[in-house]
Amino acid sequence: DVAICLFSSDLRLHDQPVLHAALRSATQVVPLFVVDTGVADAGFMVPNRAAFLADALADLDAGLRGRGGRLVIRTGDVVTETCRVAAETGAGEVHLAAGVSGYALRRERRLGTELTAAGRALVPPGAVLPSGPGKDHFAVFTPYFRRWQAEGLRSVLPAPRSVRVPAGVRSEDVPSAQVLCPDGTPSPALPAGGEQAGRRRFTAWQRSGLADYQDRQDDLPGDATSRLSSYLHFGCLSPVELVHKASARTDPGAEAFVRQLAWRDFHHQVLAARPDAASADYRTKGDRWRYDEAEVTAWKEGRTGYPVVDAGMRQLLHEGWLHNRARMLVASFLTKTLYVDWRVGARHFLDLLVDGDMANNQLNWQWVAGTGTDTRPNRVLNPLVQAKRFDPRGEYVRRWVPELSALAGAAVHQPWKLSGPERAAYDYPDPVVDLADGLLRFKRARGLE
Ligand code: FAD
Repeated sequence: DVAICLFSSDLRLHDQPVLHAALRSATQVVPLFVVDTGVADAGFMVPNRAAFLADALADLDAGLRGRGGRLVIRTGDVVTETCRVAAETGAGEVHLAAGVSGYALRRERRLGTELTAAGRALVPPGAVLPSGPGKDHFAVFTPYFRRWQAEGLRSVLPAPRSVRVPAGVRSEDVPSAQVLCPDGTPSPALPAGGEQAGRRRFTAWQRSGLADYQDRQDDLPGDATSRLSSYLHFGCLSPVELVHKASARTDPGAEAFVRQLAWRDFHHQVLAARPDAASADYRTKGDRWRYDEAEVTAWKEGRTGYPVVDAGMRQLLHEGWLHNRARMLVASFLTKTLYVDWRVGARHFLDLLVDGDMANNQLNWQWVAGTGTDTRPNRVLNPLVQAKRFDPRGEYVRRWVPELSALAGAAVHQPWKLSGPERAAYDYPDPVVDLADGLLRFKRARGLE
C-alpha cells in the first residue's frame, strides 16, 4: 500500500506529523512537493522566497535520499498533480497539513482528503475558544495566550529512519530559485534555506541569544532575536520542537520566546476564522486612506528623511528580513504618519520578506494600522521616540544609512537639526512629512480631534 505525503509549509524531517502519519499508515510513501502554479499566479512566488524555497527543497531531497527515499517534484495545479500521482502509484491516502488561508482551505476542500490535524501552528486554530455563543476565535491576544499556555503539547516526533518510495514514480528535478521565480533578483543577503540551516541557527541561538532574549528583543542594533521566522514559515523547523527545547530551560528568555511563538498561533487562528482579513479590514475604522506616489516610493526605498525608518526599509531590501521593532515602526510610519492604506505596505513586505506569511504579515499590519486586534488602535509610534529608545546610540541607523555615518551618537536620528551648510554636506533627503502635521491629519481622519 502507498500513501502520499504532500509537503507544503512543512519542509522538514524532524517532528514532521504529516510524514509521520503517512509512514504509519502505509509501507510505501511518496514524498511529494508540487510547485503550485496557483501560488505564482497569485503573485506570491517572489525572488526572496523562491531562493529560500529552492534551498529547502534541495535539503529535504538530500535528507530523504539519506533515508533511502527521495522527493518527488511536480509542477502544476496542486490538486490535479496530487490526484495524478495518486492514480500513477495507486496511493489510497493523501496526508497533508491543515492550512489556514482561504487558498489552503479551498485546496483542501478540492482534495477532499483526511487532513492530518497538526498544521503549522502549535495549538491548531479553533482548539481553544473564548466562552460565549458563536465565538469562533480569540480577538485579543492576552486571554488567548492564557488559554494557549494551558494546552498540553504533543511530544516531539523523531525523524524517520527510512522512507520507502515506490519505484518508478516520475519526478522533475528539484527546482532552482530561477525556475521557481524567473523574474526579478533575490536580495543580496538572504539566509540559507532548509532544515539543516534552521537547526544550526536554532542551536547557535540557544547558546548565545535565548537566555536574555526578554531584555534584548527590542534592541535594534543588538539584533538579538532568533531570526528563525523564515524557517518557521517554510516549516523547516517545527514550533513544537522549539517550544519543547526552550521550555527545558528556566530562564526568562525562554518564556518570552515561547510567548512570541504564541503570537504566531494567535494570528493563525484569527485568519482561519476570518479568511477575509487577509485583505479586508478586520475591524474597519472607516479610513479614507491617502495615496501619494512619491511618499510611498520614498518609504519603499528608505528615503523618507527619517533615518530610523529608512534604516529599516533598507535592511528589508537587503536581507528580506526585518527586526520586529523595525517592522512596527516602519508600518506605523506608513499607515499613521503618512496615512497610507496598510494593504500597500503589506504587499511591499510580501514582495520582499522571506518569512512573508498571510496570517502573520496581514494581521500584524492590521494590528499596527489599528484596523486589527490591537486594543489601542489609535496609538502612533513616533519614529523619533522609537529611535531614541531602541537605537539610543544611533548604531542601527549608521549601519543601514551609511551616508549619515559621520554623525555621532543620537544626532544621527535628526539630521534636519544641523545648520544649513552642515546639512548640505549630507546627501540625505529632508523629511517627507512633518511629524506633527502627520499626527494631526491622522487624528482628524479617525475623529479623535
Ligand atoms: P523572534 O523575536 O526570535 O520570535 C520568534 C518567533 O516568534 C518568530 O520567528 C515568529 O515565528 C514568532 N513571532 C514573533 N513575533 C511575532 C508576531 N508579532 N506575530 C507573529 N509571530 C511572531 N512574522 C512572520 O513570520 N511573517 C510575516 O510576514 C510577518 N510580517 C510582519 C509585519 C509587520 C508589520 C509586523 C509588525 C510584524 C510581522 N511579523 C511577521 C512578526 C515579527 O516581526 C517576525 O515574526 C519577527 O520579527 C521575526 O524575527 P525572529 O524570527 O528573529 O523573531
